[in-house]
Amino acid sequence: MTSPEFLELGHGPAPPQIVNDPEGQWIATCPSCQAVHNLESLGWTRRGAVSYGKRTSIRCPECGTAQMMSIQHVDRYGRPDQPFGFVLRRVLLIQAIVWMTLGGIFLVVWLCLLRPML
Ligand SMILES: [Zn+2]
Repeated sequence: MTSPEFLELGHGPAPPQIVNDPEGQWIATCPSCQAVHNLESLGWTRRGAVSYGKRTSIRCPECGTAQMMSIQHVDRYGRPDQPFGFVLRRVLLIQAIVWMTLGGIFLVVWLCLLRPML
């Protein structure tokens, strides 16, 4: 479970911070005031998601303006842990599973239904 109170929120480039969750958590950085927010404290939940360079329009509690905040996943020490290669591999893996499943279904349909008609 995520304990938002362990993420030190503040301004400036985020120094290594202890996030009391082995799975880390999602943070949103405001582009105008550089405030770092825990995504769950803004009412957002992302479970088991991967993303790189994601941006979402969120109202910043710090400066009160709606901003395209950059969404980033950090590990338990507050370091970003989803580099581009990691996200790319995950996306390609999901694609491979989807297409192999579709290929398997197509093969079964072809073998059972279409082939006897030829
Ligand atoms: Zn702000």
